[in-house]
Amino acid sequence: MPGGVNSPVRSFRSVGGQPVYIQAAQECYLIDVEARRYIDYIGAWGPAIAGHAHPTVVAALQAVVANGTAFGTCCAQEVALAERIVDRFDSIEKVRMTNSGTEAVMSAIRLARAATGRERIVKFAGCYHGHMNGMLARAGSGVATLGLPDSPGVVTADVAQTLTVDFGDMAAVERLFTEHRKQIAAVIVEPVAANMGVVPPPNGFLEGLREITQRDGALLIFDEVMTGCRLGSGGAQEVYGVTPDLTTLGKVIGGGIPIGAYGGSAALMNQVAPSGPVYQAGTFSGNPLAMTGGIATLDLLDAAAYQTLEVSSLRLAEGLQRAMHDAGVGGCVQRVGSMLTIFFGVEKVVNYADAQAADMETFGRFFYGMLDRGIHLPPSGFEAWFVSLAHSDAVIDETIAKASDVLKSLR
Ligand SMILES: *Cc1c(COP(=O)(O)O)cnc(C)c1O
Repeated sequence: MPGGVNSPVRSFRSVGGQPVYIQAAQECYLIDVEARRYIDYIGAWGPAIAGHAHPTVVAALQAVVANGTAFGTCCAQEVALAERIVDRFDSIEKVRMTNSGTEAVMSAIRLARAATGRERIVKFAGCYHGHMNGMLARAGSGVATLGLPDSPGVVTADVAQTLTVDFGDMAAVERLFTEHRKQIAAVIVEPVAANMGVVPPPNGFLEGLREITQRDGALLIFDEVMTGCRLGSGGAQEVYGVTPDLTTLGKVIGGGIPIGAYGGSAALMNQVAPSGPVYQAGTFSGNPLAMTGGIATLDLLDAAAYQTLEVSSLRLAEGLQRAMHDAGVGGCVQRVGSMLTIFFGVEKVVNYADAQAADMETFGRFFYGMLDRGIHLPPSGFEAWFVSLAHSDAVIDETIAKASDVLKSLR
């Protein structure tokens, strides 16, 4: 396997060294192949919101496995998960399941282009929307520009219609809409950026995007693959009270089985095949295993669960902040709901340039200090930590105490 991994961030490239190999995960713990146990803050990058191997989810999956895992035709579980998604998201009247977040974004963008008859897409530097060609583009240091590819193999034509500006920079978005009037099919955004570390949207930003897209006849796509069903029952759009045209989902909605989904108004979604001409398909889309993982997980996530996540995540963020302050280590903790990031050496991160200015060498030392003490953080300073329902107060306090030790050793 290239780099020994099947997805690059697992390789420990940004912290140095070799990844830990995991044989099992239970509640808030990872157990490696040498039987060492770690408190886990990767949370499978989101899906483990109820804790790993939650007994209810395991039982539901076991019951389904015995009945066959892929039918290549329709199953009742598809309807049950679709109903839950439509119930949770006011903006979603119809939904289509996919196998990954990348596929969901790819399909939503195709639909946005078809529905508007336009080609250009606006994205924000530091927002990740999966590894499809057109989304692997960003702009240099806040300059609005036509996209340049981020990866060899992505040709200029793939990203020629991708316009990239800084997250939160409404003035830059206004300029793009002036320059490319009635040519922009959609603005796509992580309503809370979580792939450059956690960066909340500045006041009025999401509202501004809603207003300008509506005015120009472009669509607004919220990529809620990370935030959907994590920040609250109806995702970031419910928390911030801004309604997008299309929403992409993934991660939590599969409860740990590969999944993605996209949805919006019936009028838009009816343009997708076979109702409409916009082609999109998938051999494994809506398979009973992924649907069941999602149903069982979403059914654990009621209002009380989101309140629990908020309280324990706040406890962790405040504890880490205090520990940094007491240790005299400069930096900040940024948190939205049950996602948080420690940035070293910067007071605040509002966009990708700020995130890149953070001290990643110190993060690497912090990461290994924590790993040595039995806490597995995401192996990159540009990632969110995920708190689950299985992270008890005792586990959070243990994390803070150990972080405090490590932070003192960093001075
Ligand atoms: C993870 C993620 C994706 C990609 O999802 P995959 O299932 O890894 O393809 C897209 N958008 C956002 C916001 C994500 O966090």
